[in-house]
Amino acid sequence: MYIVMVASECAPVAKVGGLADVIYGLSRELEIRGNAVEIILPKYDCMRYDHIRDLSVSYENLQVPWFNRQVPCTVWFGHVHDRRCYFIEPHSEEHFFERGSYYGFPDEHLRFAFFSKATMEFMYKTGKRPDVIHTHDWQTALIPVLLYELYAHHGMPDQRVCHTIHNFRHQGIVGEDVLWMSGLGRPEYYAAPDRLQDDFTHAALNLTKGAITYANFVTTVSPTHAWEVCNTDQGYGLGPTLTRHADKFGGVLNGLDYDMWNPGTDVYIPHHYSADDLSGKYADKQALRGRLMLQEAYKPVIAYVGRLDTQKGVHLIRHALFYALEQGAQFVLLGASPELGINDDFWQLKHHLNENPDCHLEIGYDEELAHLIYAGADMMVVPSLYEPCGLTQMIALRYGAVPIVRAVGGLADTVFDRDYSSKPMHERNGYVFHQADFAGLESAMSRAIGLWHHHPDEFHRLIRQGMAYDYSWNHPGRDYLNIYEHIRHL
Ligand code: ADP
Repeated sequence: MYIVMVASECAPVAKVGGLADVIYGLSRELEIRGNAVEIILPKYDCMRYDHIRDLSVSYENLQVPWFNRQVPCTVWFGHVHDRRCYFIEPHSEEHFFERGSYYGFPDEHLRFAFFSKATMEFMYKTGKRPDVIHTHDWQTALIPVLLYELYAHHGMPDQRVCHTIHNFRHQGIVGEDVLWMSGLGRPEYYAAPDRLQDDFTHAALNLTKGAITYANFVTTVSPTHAWEVCNTDQGYGLGPTLTRHADKFGGVLNGLDYDMWNPGTDVYIPHHYSADDLSGKYADKQALRGRLMLQEAYKPVIAYVGRLDTQKGVHLIRHALFYALEQGAQFVLLGASPELGINDDFWQLKHHLNENPDCHLEIGYDEELAHLIYAGADMMVVPSLYEPCGLTQMIALRYGAVPIVRAVGGLADTVFDRDYSSKPMHERNGYVFHQADFAGLESAMSRAIGLWHHHPDEFHRLIRQGMAYDYSWNHPGRDYLNIYEHIRHL
């Protein structure tokens, strides 16, 4: 099958968050399975050009219609760690992608509407006729609308679109200027409740709603989150639209890059190990203690790695730290927040606990230390209030750190409580709590710490059961291919 992936990010060349990892990891898996995959991205000035091999001009002077003019673009081609990528570079006074950062500009909707339009023009004019176009998040949500309303009538009638929503909080609420600029026009037609009209601001258009309406299939990043966005406030108002299109909507769990995250080969950890021989993990625990100046003691190490964002349950992370110390465990935190208030709180906490030999807080982003923490920790807490998929719990499982998670989104799909899950005993892999309060968190943590102290053999068994799970791109790759096969024959 011939698949074109269109997105605003791709790891490691243009990465802001998890979206970038998905674009890279899914494309790689689809190629391993024998499909032809191309990725189309904006050519940002701030990209990591050192990760692109053989970057060269692929198409000169692509004229993209934009309101009442044509914007000339150069399309570049290069390999990002063997992935085939096109980069669209517009030459216009707006300097859409020459801003020094990926996001955060007042004309964001026009930047990405232009990218969507230019992508369609590029495919159209170069004769690219993929079986499936896979678009991601609001930045590329205009593509299914453009395809079905314009390009299907101009020689692209057979192309099908799958759209994935990674984050419902950002939906692309825009004005009708996007319609005029992109050549769609007709606001009275598009601003209808069953097309793009936003359900709350009736004068505005909602690009994600448009993608749900026009795409042949729509996914989000875990089955539980797919349910949550239809039935709770986590859909940020898109629940009714999704319910209306329920026959073409589902959740597909993201995968983890098992090459990058492999305790058997990880270059960032001093001792390698596997489920059959965990001795390297205990040596890594010692190395972690040495690096963070924690005392050597017969205590479990509990860790948190992640953004310090309200979404992640900041009050519960803080409580987990104090509760761990109270229960005679050690606690390690690695995280940062873009919100100054939250960062300051954790800096204060760090100073307050500075002399404590059982705890260490590292405020900042440190990829290398993150790997050592996953390897050295006995348990990881992920007490999120909201978690579309979540990678930390999957990495924890892969590295033999028992996850303690709140039952929300992808966490509920990947972690199964040792004591209460309905899964058979040998398939349980962690601890789960439900209420976002101290009592819930404490009950899960105390059970985990208790098992570590009183039944070490059982704890090891739990580690091995977790390591036996396959959360690589293997299964999600197959799931997406099934979806592509299905829509291809519509
Ligand atoms: P989200 O995408 O909401 O931030 P995920 O759990 O999906 O959360 O992914 C988080 C990823 O970022 C994980 O790979 C985690 O290890 C990494 N990460 C988060 N914060 C840090 C940090 N401060 N230092 C190093 N790695 C981090």
